Formats: sequence, structure tokens, C-alpha cells
Amino acid sequence: MRRKNVFLKNIEIIDVAAEGNAIAKSEGKVIFVEGAIPGDIVDIQLLKSKKDWATAKVTQLVQPAAIRVDAFCQHFGTCGGCKWQMLPYAQQLQYKQNEVKQNLIRLGKINIPELQPIIGSAATTHYRNKLEFTFSNKRYRTPSEIAHIQTKEELYNLPQEVALGFHVPKLFDKVLDIATCYLMQEPTNAIRNGIKAFALANDIPFYDIRNRNGLLRNIIIRIVNTGEIMVNLIVAFESELNELLLNYIKTSFPQITCLMYTINNKANDSIFDLTPQLYHGNPYIIEKLENYSFKIGPKSFFQTNTAQAENLYQVTRAFAELTGNETVYDLYCGTGSIGIFCSEKAKKIIGVELIAEAIEDAKINAELNQIQHAHFFAGDVIDICDAAFFEQHGKPDVIITDPPRAGMHQALIDKIIEMQAPTVVYVSCNSATQARDLALLDAHYMVTKVQPVDMFPHTAHIENVVQLKLRNHV
Ligand code: SAH
Repeated sequence: MRRKNVFLKNIEIIDVAAEGNAIAKSEGKVIFVEGAIPGDIVDIQLLKSKKDWATAKVTQLVQPAAIRVDAFCQHFGTCGGCKWQMLPYAQQLQYKQNEVKQNLIRLGKINIPELQPIIGSAATTHYRNKLEFTFSNKRYRTPSEIAHIQTKEELYNLPQEVALGFHVPKLFDKVLDIATCYLMQEPTNAIRNGIKAFALANDIPFYDIRNRNGLLRNIIIRIVNTGEIMVNLIVAFESELNELLLNYIKTSFPQITCLMYTINNKANDSIFDLTPQLYHGNPYIIEKLENYSFKIGPKSFFQTNTAQAENLYQVTRAFAELTGNETVYDLYCGTGSIGIFCSEKAKKIIGVELIAEAIEDAKINAELNQIQHAHFFAGDVIDICDAAFFEQHGKPDVIITDPPRAGMHQALIDKIIEMQAPTVVYVSCNSATQARDLALLDAHYMVTKVQPVDMFPHTAHIENVVQLKLRNHV
């Protein structure tokens, strides 16, 4: 049943739910509330209402929870990122730890050891190494900006303004103009704001995604811990104005070591099927984890919180319990970073990954680190990892698996069981699908260690590393 415009008053928030929502109960229903935390008393408006549950948004914070803290960012509440700023970091970690535990117990229904205390991120702001900003000729106006507007006509007659920032959740063509973002260190804000001011002053048109006109589409900025900086400017077509803007970026920000541009005349923003061009500097930047170097091109995947990636990989390597004699399979290996990170303590590394370009990067990274005993293969894990493949590369002593949010395919789980690797390390960015997969492995593999790692402070995302041991292994 759908009831429109249902408002409920003085609702107490009692818990957190998946994806950063909060939970309230009213009239026998569970209500998933956006933008609230346990302890808040709020007035809400139901968005979707079903028999047993509903979703809602806060219309009024009647009484804030005692633990609430002030958000540090002026865009909090509108921007889709950093939604948990009102929750102290220690509490965020506690909720994340508990979510992993509950998922493994309730969804997995398996026996698990006591979880190791979650590894928090030392930096809770400026922790990312990559951000993408979008240009738009339609700046999103926040509800408070248009609160004084009386009629629809007045609203439609507001002058259109441009923006350079983040997409507003659920709105296809509107972009929130960002003044300061706390997710990445400087000169991120200086570059973005500089580009916007220069483009405005020189009448360079911002893209209109609905009508598909305008020039400037996106900027992707990466800053890595070697100090190198990559900027990729994405534009709709070749133009003299590109040269003008690129020259401005080059001369105003000499810190940029890799300045690229990419022509995108497609309907969507993705650049995976496009060819970035070098404008100035090197065509890549180098990131470091421990003493390992990783070459990152404009389309390469790399974990976005470098410091926590190091922690995540250290846990993964420790759980693999390597002595130097092991044949290690690194499944869903991306650009090979986990395998390379484990290579010094392994006899052989075999990486498998769907995306061919990532495998090319993995091979380059192995070479860059002078690793000869790591081999990488492109293709779907369920096609590549057949009996002949394991026969050819050797019986696995350790299988490391790091699937996307959907978790592992049943066929791969069956293969892992068949291969009887004594140790499996399962790195997951979604403990719900991880719990499902652990249940499928449970007859053969016992969970022996669980270590959540927080890569994304102020969001509800959580990574979890699990060590599994083969039952009845002699
Ligand atoms: N282990 C890597 C990347 C993990 S992200 C790291 O730490 O950086 C998950 C990876 O799985 C992505 O690179 C994605 O391209 C890959 N992937 C997704 N489905 C796959 C499949 N069916 N077979 C192989 N790889 C797949």
C-alpha cells in the first residue's frame, strides 16, 4: 500500500541499518530513515510505505541524540558523500564492526570466532587519493536556498547557474557546486575552484547532460603519497578552448605531474572505453605501498584510501600465513596489488581479473617491482579457474579472493571447495554477500579469523577480511 504525504511526529531512532540508514519503529512497521542516528527524535515524512516497512526522510530534527556532533562540511545534508559526519568516528566504527558481526551471524548462520577490533582510518578526512567532479550547466539549489520561493513559476524563472562538483543523489542532470571538499588533500580544491573560475571568466561552456551540448564534462584528480598529481580533464569535443584551459591548469598548478585530457561524446560519463591524451608531464603517476611501487594510469583501478589499503593488505598477507613456499592465487586481482604485496613471502603468485587493462597494469607493476614469480591472467574467474588452469599453475596453498559487491559466483565457490586449498583469505567490500558465500563454504571451510577494516570514514561502507581453514586438513 502506498500512502502519500504521511507525516509522523516525534519518532525515536533506535538503531542503524545497512547503507547508513537509521531505524525507527511505528505502528508495527520498521521505518528506514535517511539522515538520522540512534538517539535522535525526529519528525519524518514517509517516502515509500509497504505492509511491514517504510522508508522516510527527516523533516525536522526535534531532539538531537546526545552523541551528535556538528558536521565539518558546509555541503553536509545535500552532498551524497560523508553522510555520517554527525556521528563521532568511534561510534561509526562500533556500528560498522557490529554490522559485520550481525551479517556473519544472522545471514551466514555460521560459527565465527570473536571479531578482531576494527582497524579505523588514522585520517578521517583527506583520506582519498582520487575524486571525480562533474561540470553542469544546471546547479542544484538546496531546499533552504529556495525556501522563500512561493510558486512553481518563480522557481522555473530562476536564472540557470553552472556548477562543478558532485551529482546530487537520484538527480540525473543536477550537480551540487562544491566550494570545499574534505575528502582529498590540497591542491584538490584549489584546482577545481581555479578551473571553474577560469572557465566562467573565459565563457567556456559547461556540459548539459540532458541536451548533450556544452564542452566541459568532468575532472578526475588523483594525488598519491609520492606527491605526484594527475589531472584528467574530460571534454565533449576537440576545441581551441581545451588548449586554453589546459594551458591555464598547467601554468597555474606546476605541482601536477600528469595532465591528461579525454574526449567523451557519449551519453554517459564513463571513460573506460575512451583514450586519454597526454597534455603535459608523464602519462602516469606512481603510488607506494610499503616498498612496492604501483604505476597508475588515467584508467587504472587503485584502492582509493592508500593508507588503509596498506593496512588491508597487511591483514590479508598476515591471514595468508605465508612462509615462502606457497603457491598463492589472487582472484579478482584488479591491478595485482594484493599479489604483489604478498610476493616476497610466496613461491608463486597467480592473479586473475576480468578487465584486460587491469591485467596489463598488473604485469607492469610486477615488472616495476622486479617480481618474476607473479603471473596474471585476464578473464572471468569462473572461465579461467578450471581444473586445467590449476593443473598448469600448481595446486593452491592459499587462495585470496576479493570479489566485487555481488560476492563470488557459486561455480567459483564449488571450484575452491574442489581445490582444497588449506587456507582461503576472503577480502570483501560487502559483508552481506560475504556471509552468504561463507555459508556455502561452511561444510568444508571453517572461519578462523575476522578483521573488519574501515576504508571510508563518514560513510557506511566497510571492508572485511576473513581467514578460512580447510576442515579435516591433515
Ligand atoms: N583485489 C583488487 C581489486 C578488487 S575489486 C584490489 O585490491 O585492488 C574487484 C575486482 O574484481 C575488480 O577489479 C573487477 O574488475 C573484478 N571482477 C569482477 N567480476 C569478475 C569476474 N567475474 N572475474 C574476474 N574478475 C572480476
